[in-house]
Amino acid sequence: MSTLRFQALQQASNRKPVHFEEIGRKSNLFGANVFNEKAMKQYLTSDAFKGVRDAIQHGTKIDRKLADYIAMGMKEWALSKGVTHYTHWFQPLTGTTAEKHDAFFETSYDGSESVEKFGGAQLVQQEPDASSFPNGGIRNTFEARGYTAWDPTSPAFIYGTTLCIPTVFIAYTGEALDNKIPLLRALSAIDEAATEVCKYFDKNVKKVTATLGWEQEYFLIDKALANSRPDLMMTGRTLLGHTSAKGQQLDDHYFGSIPTRALTYMRDLEQECMLLGIPVKTRHNEVAPNQFELAPIFEETNLAVDHNSLLMDVMQKVAERHDFKVLFHEKPFKGVNGSGKHNNWSLATDTGVNLLSPSKTPMSNLQFLTFFINTIKAVNDNETLLRASIATASNDHRLGANEAPPAIMSVFIGAQLTKVLSELESVTTGKLSPEEKTDLKLNVVGKIPDVLLDNTDRNRTSPFAFTGNKFEFRAVGSNSNCSNAMTTLNAIVAKQLIDFKNEVENLIENKDMKKDDAIFNVLREYIKQSKKILFEGDGYSEAWEKEAAKRGLSNFKTTPEAIKAKVSKQALELFEQLGIFNHVEAEARYEIELEEYTKKIQIEGRVLGDIARNHVIPTAIRYQNTLIDNVKGLKEIFAKEFEALAKEQIVLIKEISGHIEGINSKVLAMTNERKKANQLTDAQKMAEAYCNNVKPYFDEIRNHCDKLELLVDDESWTLTKYRELLFTK
Ligand code: ADP
Ligand code: MG
Repeated sequence: MSTLRFQALQQASNRKPVHFEEIGRKSNLFGANVFNEKAMKQYLTSDAFKGVRDAIQHGTKIDRKLADYIAMGMKEWALSKGVTHYTHWFQPLTGTTAEKHDAFFETSYDGSESVEKFGGAQLVQQEPDASSFPNGGIRNTFEARGYTAWDPTSPAFIYGTTLCIPTVFIAYTGEALDNKIPLLRALSAIDEAATEVCKYFDKNVKKVTATLGWEQEYFLIDKALANSRPDLMMTGRTLLGHTSAKGQQLDDHYFGSIPTRALTYMRDLEQECMLLGIPVKTRHNEVAPNQFELAPIFEETNLAVDHNSLLMDVMQKVAERHDFKVLFHEKPFKGVNGSGKHNNWSLATDTGVNLLSPSKTPMSNLQFLTFFINTIKAVNDNETLLRASIATASNDHRLGANEAPPAIMSVFIGAQLTKVLSELESVTTGKLSPEEKTDLKLNVVGKIPDVLLDNTDRNRTSPFAFTGNKFEFRAVGSNSNCSNAMTTLNAIVAKQLIDFKNEVENLIENKDMKKDDAIFNVLREYIKQSKKILFEGDGYSEAWEKEAAKRGLSNFKTTPEAIKAKVSKQALELFEQLGIFNHVEAEARYEIELEEYTKKIQIEGRVLGDIARNHVIPTAIRYQNTLIDNVKGLKEIFAKEFEALAKEQIVLIKEISGHIEGINSKVLAMTNERKKANQLTDAQKMAEAYCNNVKPYFDEIRNHCDKLELLVDDESWTLTKYRELLFTK
């Protein structure tokens, strides 16, 4: 009998919900472990408090002396909560978070007294051992080392007994080595560009903030069961496994109540989130068995991205206590839905206006339409770059796999807004007559709030959908750091708004137009130019693939194809113009992503080869031997009827041999392709070789293994099966 699988099953079926300590009322907990305004007011001098606030609101620098005061207060606060260590918390390009813990105090060299270690210098800057983080050749080229620097716009927090200080990670030569720096640069670019455009409508606007509300999907699998699968442990997904007889057909998980063990886990997790100031709001079951979703209230984008990264880490840690393992992979199981991370995005002014929300007056609706249409134009002109921003080896399993948004970028806006756009399209070229303007304001622009209320058609198959007061970028991978997608989206919209302002100014100055006329004129042209990106139909259908190809939209199904757009001339210029990436940084990132892709496929190939040969084939042979013994026995006893009696067994024996042969030859061929690919020196070519020559063997090998799973005696099958992974609650 296969011991690990059955031990795991035994463990899993004996589990009870794990008790956890619930502390006090939820509202009192919120942000208790965050060095937020309340804590700052209590622990900082008024000068130090003002310094941090100015840095957050206006990006002013914090000098060393002030930093010393802030560090003192921060330490004081942390010590009062039993903290012993501090760390610079950052997001290197590995997709996770990194931290190096240092103690607050050290003893002096003779051990006679304790020496304080945490001052302004330690708060503001640190030097992690940078050599192990990917840099895409930046450090080799420049022989530079990296350092981390405090990001005061994201508050410090306590996790466990460690004070975590959100930081950026930067090379000494100035290039960004992390996910946060480009995001901060993009957010500042959109702030500047959007504020300028807002001034057409309201002179009081001084700042525009990009907002993000993510929705995180995940699978929750019993820890023992997950650990019994080498593929889940090593790659985060099952590389083989026959689909279970029952999957998600009945939708019973989606509509059912949350299983008790999972619910207990969620309550514990939510308590941790409250303490950390992550405003988690909703939780529910998702479509696939053992799949769930969690979403917070939206926040300023930088903070929201930090919170998502932190959450993913906390989710795994809390899961440990509840004997679960969280799977963030976009497609952990074949044949059942995968996971995504919807990124709800909008823009908010410091005067309290959501720029993507229609409102009551024609003037503010013209503002809404301006931002709405500019966003559509930005996606239209940069669809390949947006696609590139969500490209990862694991997300390739979702995009274009007929369950998630396709690999084709398009924008859904609903029937009512489509109508509004088509009316705006016929606006007169040049100056508008007073009658036309009145008519537009009253009957087109002014009617938007009413019609939107009835706008209930929500297209779930669109990768980028307008949902009433925000856009929802649905194609982001569940395992990704949101910053890649958010940096790109905010950058392309920022660039678009700059162009818009220039065009409007041009019409005002050179064509003697009034501001409104100029805005209507520019928007009309944008609507005409952005038609190819608007799509209201079924994004999963084959008809759409054909139609999209006709429209000239890209449809890159794999990462190596998709990410080339990151280093296209257009992208390099855009990032450089906005000061988000210089060429070196953009190219370094592209290299890192290619390398990561190659490594992921390489690891999957190796793990699959190992499992197929070390688990599946030996098990199959053992079972085949039982059949052979059986046939031999039948022959001994029944000389005459033997052939009739042993017929089925003999067929099975042959079938098993066929699959064993299939596995062996395919694994060998795959290994050869890996060897060939490894000889390539160009990162793009190597990734393509892994994608096109190595990866296709995965399905073939899997097929043979999955067939054997159905043939071989259940008792001797070593790998925990889909029904066990997915239906153990
Ligand atoms: P659903 O899309 O599931 O019907 P909601 O409309 O409530 O639900 O919103 C889904 C997500 O959108 C939530 O995570 C929420 O925080 C986020 N969201 C709502 N408004 C905004 C906004 N202005 N900017 C960014 N995200 C937002
Ligand atoms: Mg959603």
